[in-house]
Amino acid sequence: MLQGRTALVTGSTSGIGLGIAVALARQGANVVLNGFGDAQPALDAVRACGVRAEHHGADMSRPAEIEAMMAFAAAEFGGVDILVNNAGIQHVAPVEEFPVEKWDAILAINLTSAFHTTRLALPAMKARNWGRVLNVASVHGLVASAQKSAYVAAKHGIVGFTKAVALENATSGITVNAICPGWVLTPLVQKQVEARAEKDGVDIEEATRRLLGEKQPSLQFTTPEQLGELAVFLCSDAAANVRGVAWNMDGGWAAQ
Ligand code: NAD
Repeated sequence: MLQGRTALVTGSTSGIGLGIAVALARQGANVVLNGFGDAQPALDAVRACGVRAEHHGADMSRPAEIEAMMAFAAAEFGGVDILVNNAGIQHVAPVEEFPVEKWDAILAINLTSAFHTTRLALPAMKARNWGRVLNVASVHGLVASAQKSAYVAAKHGIVGFTKAVALENATSGITVNAICPGWVLTPLVQKQVEARAEKDGVDIEEATRRLLGEKQPSLQFTTPEQLGELAVFLCSDAAANVRGVAWNMDGGWAAQ
């Protein structure tokens, strides 16, 4: 379905980004990977789908590096047809104790990087009159949790950004949508499970049960594979008129 297209997925050396990259590669898309994790296993997983893949190590908090990554994608693959803004970090603290540099980093990586990649990808998408921008927001783009002020602000921000850019391109073949996962067991969440185990003095299994029980009614993690299939749908022709949505896959979290 996506043969001949190129997808660029930020933060795709692990977790949700890698799940989405592999799902798009299974549909035939070539992939530009990005992220600080070990690139080789991610490249192997994508190339095993029979497509071309390269990794670019740009730091999503640095606009000049983002520009270099987009230039790399244009030079190596002829541009980006599917842009997945996924890179993200988390830090948990009450607002009055929130480290200023963590606030700045979360806003830069989780929100502002998507502004830079999107503004740089759109001209080529417009020239082809086809494009898909998928912003991996979070259920925290729809509702809040205590201790996560920067993350919640960034994720609500990217949902708003998604709607604005969707409207700017509403009469074109370019759609812009957000995906809002609940808990997904990735390195980002593993750290939070471990912190919970330590705080409550319980083992990992019990900490996991408590974490899910608090917010996610299904009591099951959403998986990177499930999110990958949602991304595939949003890239399909059937989704050509899905514009500016923030689609949660959260085990019922936001329904409460
Ligand atoms: P992860 O830690 O597995 O992956 C994050 C990726 O981003 C990694 O590849 C990492 O190297 C990369 N990254 C981090 N800082 C970067 C930077 N400055 N420049 C470039 N790459 C950078 O985490 P994940 O859970 O897969 O998170 C992916 C996205 O999904 C994030 O935006 C996160 O907020 C969002 N999300 C995650 C969950 C969850 O439960 N895991 C839920 C909702 C939303």
